[in-house]
Amino acid sequence: MTNLPGIVITGASGRMGQMLINTVLNSNNARLVGALERPGHDWIGRDLGAAMGGAEIGLNVSDDPLEMIAQAHAVIDFTAPAATVEFATLCAQARCVHVIGTTGLSEADLKHLNAAARHAVVVRAGNMSLGVNLLTQLTKKVAAALDEDFDIEIVEAHHNQKVDAPSGTALMLGEAAAEGRGVALDNVSDRGRDGITGKRERGHIGFSAIRGGDIVGEHDVIFAATGERIVLRHIATDRAVFARGALRAALWGQGRKPGEYDMLDVLGLSE
Ligand code: NAP
Repeated sequence: MTNLPGIVITGASGRMGQMLINTVLNSNNARLVGALERPGHDWIGRDLGAAMGGAEIGLNVSDDPLEMIAQAHAVIDFTAPAATVEFATLCAQARCVHVIGTTGLSEADLKHLNAAARHAVVVRAGNMSLGVNLLTQLTKKVAAALDEDFDIEIVEAHHNQKVDAPSGTALMLGEAAAEGRGVALDNVSDRGRDGITGKRERGHIGFSAIRGGDIVGEHDVIFAATGERIVLRHIATDRAVFARGALRAALWGQGRKPGEYDMLDVLGLSE
């Protein structure tokens, strides 16, 4: 049992944090060695199981990442960009696998992760589910097969607590479509249309975001031409799919060479 890879979960009280904790606690292939929250959070120092509303499990929530990460094989991190950048430095120092689900990272944040990946395995994906990663491959193939007579639009829907838009998944799908077409997404991306926008530009990739209720995550990639339309759709109904993917990534990363990886690498779907 104690030989199993030790996992630390950051953002323990969050929607994904709690899902990840349950996933690791129920796994036969990993053991939970730490749960982190930010300093001042009311879970700090409490038994994790009790804080989550269940029985005590003999592990207290900590606000000391240095101490936790030193004893971990992998850190699974679904928090916020500023926290993720900090955890990346600590994981690099400890040579610990860093699995990152956090979205909304800036170019500067990504540079930081790139530097950290010189010392440790970093697995990052805007969506850790098998279904969405398959969808990115399909999107790339369909975009490569169709010409610009087909307008590509990506529509995503999420719960009303989400803070970034478009979603990390929508951007992954946009990147895949742009790659299929052999263009850079930054040069063709249309975001948040409002007012007199002018006609749609041929070859552009549009993004729209819906926010409401408890929607876990829905993504449509629409290829719309005159007289016909293809819609590729993924619907997540349970956050467990992301947590299972993240744990799989943490285990996959054990013993690998330092570097940046994504879920396509983990799932063996890279081309
Ligand atoms: P959430 O419920 O708001 O949870 C975020 C957690 O991180 C909160 O507990 C928050 O604590 C904590 N946190 C923030 N800054 C921290 C810090 N400096 N140190 C320690 N903890 C910190 O959000 P969520 O729905 O779980 O989503 C979290 C992230 O994962 C988002 O970026 C979301 O887009 C992403 N996500 C990715 C995937 C994927 O498959 N890649 C799937 C789902 C979600 P406070 O409450 O104190 O702020």
